[in-house]
Amino acid sequence: MPPASDICDLTLAALAEKLGQREISSVEATEAALARTRAIEPKVHAFLHLDETATEAARASDARRAKGEARSPLDGVPIGLKDIFVTEGLPTTAGSRILEGFVPPYDGTAVARLRARGAVITGKLAMDEFAMGSSNENTPFTPPRNPWDLGRVPGGSSGGSAAAVAAREVFGALGTDTGGSIRQPAALCGIVGLKPTYGRVSRYGVVAFASSLDQVGPMARTTEDCALLLQAIAGHDPLDSTSADLPVADYSAAVGRGAGGLTLGVPDEYFGAGLDPEVESGVRAALARLEAAGARVKRVSLPHARYAVAAYYIVATAEASSNLARYDGVKYGRRAPGARSLHEMYLRTRAEGFGPEVKRRIMLGTYVLSAGYYDAYYLKAQRVRTLIRRDFEQAFSEVDAIVGPTSPTPAFRFGEKLADPLQMYLADIFTIACNLAGLPGLSVPCAFTRDGLPVGVQFIGKPWGEPVLFSLGAALDRDLSLHSLRPPL
Ligand code: GLN
Repeated sequence: MPPASDICDLTLAALAEKLGQREISSVEATEAALARTRAIEPKVHAFLHLDETATEAARASDARRAKGEARSPLDGVPIGLKDIFVTEGLPTTAGSRILEGFVPPYDGTAVARLRARGAVITGKLAMDEFAMGSSNENTPFTPPRNPWDLGRVPGGSSGGSAAAVAAREVFGALGTDTGGSIRQPAALCGIVGLKPTYGRVSRYGVVAFASSLDQVGPMARTTEDCALLLQAIAGHDPLDSTSADLPVADYSAAVGRGAGGLTLGVPDEYFGAGLDPEVESGVRAALARLEAAGARVKRVSLPHARYAVAAYYIVATAEASSNLARYDGVKYGRRAPGARSLHEMYLRTRAEGFGPEVKRRIMLGTYVLSAGYYDAYYLKAQRVRTLIRRDFEQAFSEVDAIVGPTSPTPAFRFGEKLADPLQMYLADIFTIACNLAGLPGLSVPCAFTRDGLPVGVQFIGKPWGEPVLFSLGAALDRDLSLHSLRPPL
């Protein structure tokens, strides 16, 4: 048996292969992952809840293998979940004090599908409160750190998932992405993250932030690993009326296809002022590599992209103000003690339970939906959303994918953007349009800065265009092999 630290260095696909050959057992892999997690968590803080009983699931997986009854390539693979996924018997906080003590009675669909395919869940990962943020600083708990530089943020809101994958505590994780929350932390932590097409993965059993934008997706060290995870969780779910009843492609086949013959659109709007020069050169170098591998590159224009952040913060806060109305101290989690009336109990529970950013968004969202302002803000934002979608439709009449930076900067320092919400909101300037248009987006590591910080390139696809994104990401992974670099922990 290889030493435990070497097991943790395997990609998810490599581990799956070794489990299949029975060179490594799931118990060995799970114990290695738990040991590494215990050893480095005091530095990384990616976990909100570590499930020490995970070895039981690993033992069951090994028993299936021994009988030739493995359920999928993921059978026996240790995986982490952003703490936004409802998990039977495991605490689920969505990063908020208001859900403290909540232990759900069921698994959401994506989690149930992972378990049905034999994956071993090792725990729940840190996030910005209710997925609102880009740094993991919006939290009442200890924020996770960026494994490449512990003085910097891992990004957000799925920052704990990105940090845990980058630090090799898990072989893959699930996150959610409403405006960039899978792709931006993936870019900042040097891993791969996919936001699938809206409707590709069920949202049943995922704590809702903004229901018309939220989408579940995989995070892992390589594109190939993300393809394996998406294969397990994608597909129609009668329990989520927004999940699409469309066939699921063979994603692993797409991984091997290469970049040859694909036309890549480069939008002028994604390379303007505010873009860090080292991010720009990393992304341009990746484009040159893909061109050398046989892709064609073409300029495209997304003229309404500049309104994406503004439209998003109206639509997302409006939906959040409605979704978060359910946290009232009655149904789940925390209830403020000592109230003398029902009304006072609601007020005190929400005042104590929600953090400042969540309160800011509930107020903003309530305002843009209120009589007299609805037309001026909410309706207008929905119209802008349509224009943004049409920009993409126009561009996709000429190209197979759109390429640009994932984040305008590499990982920033703790505290750097905390005092100015607008600066924090701008961290998602290149990821938000995808959510507004419902499109898939993949972030793949493409470079490191002189300070040793990862840079991510983003591929945006047509609806249901995940296979094209996987072909491009995997071509880059094979070419650059950045996933073999380890953070200096
Ligand atoms: N950072 C963005 C926000 O704060 C996006 C978050 C997300 O995708 N969940 O809303």
